[in-house]
Amino acid sequence: MNNKVGAGVGVSTPLTDKTAAEAIRVEGLRKSFGPHEVLKGVDLTAHEGDVIAVIGGSGSGKSTMLRCINFLETPSAGKIVIAGEEVRQRPDGGGAADRRQIERLRRSLGMVFQSFNLWTHKTVLDNLIEVPVHVLRVPKAEAVERARSLLARVGLAEKADSYPAFLSGGQQQRAAIARALCMEPRAMLFDEPTSALDPELVGEVLSVIRGLAAEGRTMILVTHEMKFAREVASHVIFLANGQVEEQGPPEQVFGKPQSPRLQQFLRSVG
Ligand code: ADP
Ligand code: MG
Repeated sequence: MNNKVGAGVGVSTPLTDKTAAEAIRVEGLRKSFGPHEVLKGVDLTAHEGDVIAVIGGSGSGKSTMLRCINFLETPSAGKIVIAGEEVRQRPDGGGAADRRQIERLRRSLGMVFQSFNLWTHKTVLDNLIEVPVHVLRVPKAEAVERARSLLARVGLAEKADSYPAFLSGGQQQRAAIARALCMEPRAMLFDEPTSALDPELVGEVLSVIRGLAAEGRTMILVTHEMKFAREVASHVIFLANGQVEEQGPPEQVFGKPQSPRLQQFLRSVG
């Protein structure tokens, strides 16, 4: 993948496994809010098994990029291709895409937000089975079995019947991860999953994410945990002012940053 952004430092680096199938491809992604262009042509490719860490300062467009990939925002221009399937824009040029296709593709991407977003009036187990049972029509017994096994994996077997308010932030976030996994997503998208947590609760969530990386899950992870990004990522993307300013393998991006902006960013967070 070549960094085509003119302003950035051009670094040509292969991702971990180029023979793996393409999971997510973003091409020339632009997004404006009114006159404010937040994404100015972003390219990104995640192959199966890639863990792509996205770093960058506040306001650089990280969340907007993830939200476009997951169709929570409609791109102003550019392509989003999920497992080879491009999101169709309406022929009338209105920018709105095919809702049904979007709902289907969105279900193949498990999104975990900074705020845990659990339904507060449902138990943890009911949070996990709601969509599988009521939207996807998975038989309830099967959904419950899968949910319980995922809760056990994230260390929450005992909390299945608790309401979110009785869980710590770290437990809520682990439940949110298990809920995303219940959909058997092709890839996981994490948007600063630990930034709303008290410091002592960060580790338990990172260790769940580390486990997912180790089992070869495809992930795009927006994070401000630089040490963690360096440890788990197969590829790191530094966004600055809505553009990919620099990218490459973690050793290179963190160890030998080329762009002065990246150098400065790393100093400011390090
Ligand atoms: P990051 O996640 O890197 O901190 P964001 O993607 O959240 O950055 O935001 C990038 C810029 O886009 C910010 O200037 C933010 O104010 C603006 N922005 C994000 N969402 C909206 C929105 N819905 N309407 C208007 N401006 C937005
Ligand atoms: Mg953000």
